[in-house]
Amino acid sequence: MRPELASYAASTETSRGRRFKEAPPRGRSEYQRDRDRIIHSTAFRRLEYKTQVFVNHEGDLFRTRLTHSLEVAQIGRSVARHLALDEDLTEAITLAHDLGHTPFGHTGQDALNACMKPHGGFEHNLQSLRVVDVLEQRYGAFDGLNLTFETREGVLKHCSLKNARQLGDVGERFIRKQRPSLEAQIANLADEIAYNNHDVDDGLRSGLLQMDQLSEVAIFRRHMRAALKEFPHIDGRRLVHETVRRMIDTLVTDLVRQSKACIRDAGPQTLDDVRRAPQMIRFSERIRLEQAELKRFLHTNLYRHYRVCRMSTKARRIVSDLFQAFFAEPQLLPPEFQARAREDTPRAIADYIAGMTDRYAIVEHRRLFAIDVS
Ligand code: MG
Repeated sequence: MRPELASYAASTETSRGRRFKEAPPRGRSEYQRDRDRIIHSTAFRRLEYKTQVFVNHEGDLFRTRLTHSLEVAQIGRSVARHLALDEDLTEAITLAHDLGHTPFGHTGQDALNACMKPHGGFEHNLQSLRVVDVLEQRYGAFDGLNLTFETREGVLKHCSLKNARQLGDVGERFIRKQRPSLEAQIANLADEIAYNNHDVDDGLRSGLLQMDQLSEVAIFRRHMRAALKEFPHIDGRRLVHETVRRMIDTLVTDLVRQSKACIRDAGPQTLDDVRRAPQMIRFSERIRLEQAELKRFLHTNLYRHYRVCRMSTKARRIVSDLFQAFFAEPQLLPPEFQARAREDTPRAIADYIAGMTDRYAIVEHRRLFAIDVS
């Protein structure tokens, strides 16, 4: 049985609908249809071969953008259910939130943004929206996936005022300084819970982080002690997992409790009330500070680890080499992007590069630059 939803949850009845009118789905809700379209998209399958922190070929057990998105969806659904919000909308947003990511994680995004600076810039959030609105080509009647307004506004986590003015309906809230649905707010924090915790886990698995280093971080130390109190004999991967699962549980529980209190205080009745109110999905102050400490630790010790930096340097070079080569000679682009390039060359190149998986980008770089004389 579907639990009764709160009056301020997003719902099919109050939805602002799709850009192109379609008959209502049978046997599933509008937001379930959004989720299904996202799962069947090409961009979603590509997430399997796109980096979070570790490049895909560095090991089979590290998170990729696909497994990351699934973890975010799991956490998001749990929170949405506890708060009597629409789980399917949260799930659709979480599964789509990283569709616009370039190869090689944040390094790839920064490199592409640098190349695109004179041409309007590149931002992965906007690109995720562009993927679902324009770039997926699967339906006869329209470009993109024609998702509901609520899923699209959730995918567009943030954007500049300049871009917001060009985006029409989904840009409005940035101009009016309003919030998106609670389902979208959940997706945002579920993302944070997922990556902080899996980066700890992957960091330890890779050997770039050590347990004794991590025990300097309050939230990790507290949960490792709790795990050892219950299971004094465990160590290694089992101890890591027992610690990380306790951290995730604490964060989800705290998020639900604090958000319930915020919703009670603000007293929204409708989704429009939610949009006008301050952000209501939030951690308690104590947990927010602990999360900030963990983030700082990961920045210093994992994201700036020399082995991660070496890969980032190569990734940056690959992305900017590819961009320069296509910009100098757009005829090197595959035919479908050449057609797009006739309208806007830099944007067509950015779309092509952003759609690449890590290994495709590496292979494409080799195809364009390796001089094989044998
Ligand atoms: Mg993410």
